Amino acid sequence: MIQANEDGRVVILGTGGTIAGRATQTGDNVGYVAAQVSVGALVDAVPLLQDLSLDVEQVAQVDSKDMDLSVWQALASQLAAHLARPEVRAVVVTHGTDTIEETAFVLQMLLAPRKPVVLTCAMRPSSALVPDGPQNLSDAVALACDGSLAGVTMVCAGMVHAARDVAKVHTYRLDAFDSGDEGPLAAVEEGRIRLFRVPALGQPLHDGGLLASFLAATALPRVELVFSHADADGGLVRALLAQADGDRPLRGIVVAGTGNGTVHKDLVAALEAARGQGVRVCLTSRCARGHVVTHPGLSFDEVSDLSPVKARLALALELLGSG
Ligand code: ASP
Repeated sequence: MIQANEDGRVVILGTGGTIAGRATQTGDNVGYVAAQVSVGALVDAVPLLQDLSLDVEQVAQVDSKDMDLSVWQALASQLAAHLARPEVRAVVVTHGTDTIEETAFVLQMLLAPRKPVVLTCAMRPSSALVPDGPQNLSDAVALACDGSLAGVTMVCAGMVHAARDVAKVHTYRLDAFDSGDEGPLAAVEEGRIRLFRVPALGQPLHDGGLLASFLAATALPRVELVFSHADADGGLVRALLAQADGDRPLRGIVVAGTGNGTVHKDLVAALEAARGQGVRVCLTSRCARGHVVTHPGLSFDEVSDLSPVKARLALALELLGSG
């Protein structure tokens, strides 16, 4: 049961993903094609949603492994427009699981919405014997209607995660997401929200100007992600520097260090050369949990407590905002 205890419309924006996937064989949970079914059909398949005031719109139809700037631009601009409508109380976005954490983070950074923006997904295609998409969509709409969590959140397998914390941690299980040490924000139980914590709403990274720059960009500032690992030699970084004068010059590197931000000495040497050429180097950890606890002995003084993929986006947006 969804508690529609406030007036106002909920907008559902479709972007594709496995939730909109279809397999040729019913019950095939992995050999399917993502982004085949319209968001309208996904909504029609959930009887609980039929009595609500919904606006449904297909913004894109992509496998989220292929997410790119143009889809993010379409989504951010539609979201901003719908959030500005006084009669809209919340927006739900259907999305693939592979990059949902990145989209959630980008949207939170750009918009820091005061209304709920709930992303949801599925690990099984719509043609599965027991698909998880309808329940996830229903839970997402329940959270949107409840209204107790503003900002960008993400719902999967009955758990609600903050955009900043959520990460896909499993390749196959229905409960594929985790919020690390922070933990989930809430659970959705039979359409009711059991709140564990309410995150600070935050401000957009800059002002509305960053959204305008984002929407006008032909590409994000180039920030690459490099892992430190046994036997690393820095060759990848040197190759990046060798093409630094191309039409999309290298502006930053996020290093996913080992453990508490340690980096192979040969990779450190290559990264120092990159810094010498004006490339920002930001240190994170490749560990699934925790963040780099800073101390004077770290190889680099620019440290992020975000996951490597989110630190990459944060740096790219910061560089975009600073021109
Ligand atoms: N490759 C799919 C996607 O991210 C996986 C999924 O949605 O589960 O669109």
